[in-house]
Amino acid sequence: MTSGSVSIRQICKAYGSYQALNGISLDIAAGEFLTLLGPSGSGKTTLLNVIAGFERPDSGSLLVDSAEFITKPPHKRDLGMVFQNYALFPHMDVFANVAYPLKLRKVEAGALKSKVLKALETVHMAHLSGRRINELSGGQRQRVALARAIVFEPKLLLMDEPLSALDKNLREHMQIELKRLHRRLGMTTIYVTHDQQEALTMSDRIAVLDGGRIMQLDSPKNIYDAPNSKFVAGFMGDTRFVAVRGNGSTFLLDGRVLRLAREPQIAGNDAWLMVRPERLRWQGNAEQDNRIEGTVTDVTYLGDSYMVSLELREDTEISIRHTGSETVALPAPGDQLALWMSPEASVVVEGARL
Ligand code: ADP
Ligand code: MG
Repeated sequence: MTSGSVSIRQICKAYGSYQALNGISLDIAAGEFLTLLGPSGSGKTTLLNVIAGFERPDSGSLLVDSAEFITKPPHKRDLGMVFQNYALFPHMDVFANVAYPLKLRKVEAGALKSKVLKALETVHMAHLSGRRINELSGGQRQRVALARAIVFEPKLLLMDEPLSALDKNLREHMQIELKRLHRRLGMTTIYVTHDQQEALTMSDRIAVLDGGRIMQLDSPKNIYDAPNSKFVAGFMGDTRFVAVRGNGSTFLLDGRVLRLAREPQIAGNDAWLMVRPERLRWQGNAEQDNRIEGTVTDVTYLGDSYMVSLELREDTEISIRHTGSETVALPAPGDQLALWMSPEASVVVEGARL
């Protein structure tokens, strides 16, 4: 697919004195799956509503395939949209719900029927086309909402937390289905979630939002492994931070120089070593790796492993899993322990001290 590229330039939107979007600029390639990820209130829905045309920004421009969209009313933008709460018509059956966008577009009866059935087949709901909406489960309703969004083959699909009302198993199943659907149909997709795991699983790229700004725009792997700030690092995974002293290029942990594979971009003095359980090792090489010492505080049984928590100086806590395959015996509370991180796994980020 060659159409459906989006170019967002310096979009600002205030509600009263509150700046909900603070100069958002973003280019999305045709066919890309881009996720807006951020905490509640960071501006994700506002940005999606600006793209859909439900909100008029105060300034900025929005180009879709090089055409200005800001002044276009929502129904002329031809976008598919899926919301968290489905927004289906409860008094109509499944078929009528999915047919609705085609009726608006005055598609004739024969073509309408085949398009609706095709969309329903795509989401595995063709066998329930005569059911009423209130006779469907949450997962089935979300499939109908999805069929309704794709039935007119929009070049752009917008989804706002479409899976957040579903339970964990169904949500993970639907993530895989959505991803497959995207691969098959190839439409540009802008997906909103506050769930970092969902964003990592589904996206070509992720834009992390906070306070109406894009904090980082990158591949899932870079967002996770090479966060550009303490905020992004802390938003992804089970992350702890250990304060380190530094002068911009050399950083000290417990008086030893940290070995880093990537040079951190740090302007001020507030530097932190990002520590995640899966990046710590039980064994290391004192000549090559970084050593972190602490006192074991808790050993928690998780079924497939144990979580071992350690307290470092300055009330900092970190943890690591013990699967039983380590050559190190399971430690006990009170034990002094040294853990290791390779230079590749050691990332220093900047962020204010709390
Ligand atoms: P998110 O979807 O990331 O949770 P939103 O885009 O819904 O965040 O909201 C961003 C900020 O803008 C929030 O602080 C919210 O309270 C505010 N906001 C959103 N819509 C309105 C509105 N219609 N009037 C006033 N404030 C709003
Ligand atoms: Mg929202």
